[in-house]
Amino acid sequence: MSTRRNFLKTLGLGLGVATFPGILRAAANAHVVVVGGGFGGATAAKYLKHWAPQLEVTLIEPNPQYHSCVLSNLVVVNELGLDRITFDYADLRSRFGVRVRHDRVAGIDTTAQTLSLAGGGSVAYDRLILAPGVEFDAVPGLDINRVPHAWKAGDQTLLLQQQLQAMPAGGDFVLSIPPAPYRCPPGPYERACAVADFLQRHKPGSRVTVLDANPNITAARRTFETAFNGLYAGIIDYRTNVQVQGVDSAARVLTTNVGEFQADTLNVIPPHRAPQLLRDAGLANSGGDKWAGVDPLSYASTAVPNVHIIGDAQGTGQPKAGHIANSEAKICADAVIRLLNGGQPLASPKTNSACYTPITADTASFLTGVFRYDPASGAMQPVPESMGEAAHPSREYYDEMFDWAGNLFQDTFAQR
Ligand SMILES: Cc1cc2nc3c(=O)[nH]c(=O)nc-3n(C[C@H](O)[C@H](O)[C@H](O)COP(=O)(O)OP(=O)(O)OC[C@H]3O[C@@H](n4cnc5c(N)ncnc54)[C@H](O)[C@@H]3O)c2cc1C
Repeated sequence: MSTRRNFLKTLGLGLGVATFPGILRAAANAHVVVVGGGFGGATAAKYLKHWAPQLEVTLIEPNPQYHSCVLSNLVVVNELGLDRITFDYADLRSRFGVRVRHDRVAGIDTTAQTLSLAGGGSVAYDRLILAPGVEFDAVPGLDINRVPHAWKAGDQTLLLQQQLQAMPAGGDFVLSIPPAPYRCPPGPYERACAVADFLQRHKPGSRVTVLDANPNITAARRTFETAFNGLYAGIIDYRTNVQVQGVDSAARVLTTNVGEFQADTLNVIPPHRAPQLLRDAGLANSGGDKWAGVDPLSYASTAVPNVHIIGDAQGTGQPKAGHIANSEAKICADAVIRLLNGGQPLASPKTNSACYTPITADTASFLTGVFRYDPASGAMQPVPESMGEAAHPSREYYDEMFDWAGNLFQDTFAQR
């Protein structure tokens, strides 16, 4: 219980209202460019201006609105409107003075320290913070307009919602989980529970087949094993070590190493990697060249100078999640200001992560943990006593889930 209260406080009140007078003097006139306005990038842009108002900070993000993946499984099962997880950048502009440019970064010249934009022109930076999230590996035959992943929120979330609504009673929902690491470790199991609950109530006799590429449930194992074997016994069929080989998107048939699965609704979550933008710039040098290697003291690239990578695209081994992307962003912003000021990043950073997980339409569980810098390994390591999941899903945690997410949204998008 105390761990849970602590992370709620840390996110909502800790760095959110604090200012550091030593830092406020920093970095006059330097231009910091942040790429990607999700949980990592929006938070970094905000805190750079909050702690060093004289900095010039440009946030480059193609979309005028951001749809949060956090809570998006509730949109899939029609418990929440998409508008409740949609945010814009107006407050970052008006309250913090972040210059927001709606464009897509097409290339990075790390020698000239410039970015080229898909809309034309280029932007020069003194320091660059990249937070572009993830891209997916190609899956043979997968057409996401017929077989949604709904692992980036927005149209994909609504498409899966519509397909679920249109399912017949007694139908088959088939969900495939990619090999770790992928964004939101408990997220696919949460989706299985939310969908099973929906089908139980609205499409009786339906089944959820979960095909996991991993050898075991990758997060909150006790919570999900209990749900799969108890509440959803006879509805959820969970199988491990299943590798997806291809998809017939029109026929909704999934081919795997253990056979074919025919679905009424097919939900394939493809394997993840850092976006091509980072690979083209030579930044994806970690985890089999899938992720961007960084120094966790500052999130500075280990490949080139003056570039930092935060959020899902970085390769520190911390979970790929929105809460911890927000936490990494604050450490990165603080370090960038110190470095611009001729100083050094703080020597012992900590980050924290939390995921609340709806298990039924009115109960939720949670998973949380703290990571701290270990000078011996030069890596972020889990703090054992901080790692934990709720003892049982409850109504109280379901209500708390909205407080936690509200704090995260408010802190990230600078809402009043
Ligand atoms: C179903 C689901 C549930 C989840 N639940 C939780 C949860 O309970 N708790 C939790 O902590 N996390 C959760 N997550 C994970 C969380 O959503 C991600 O880890 C988080 O969004 C990562 O933040 P990010 O800033 O790295 O990337 P994103 O939030 O994906 O933001 C990336 C941004 O970069 C922009 N971008 C991409 N390429 C470019 C480019 N070339 N130029 C400019 N901009 C670009 C994109 O438009 C996007 O806005 C969940 C995820 C899913 C799928």
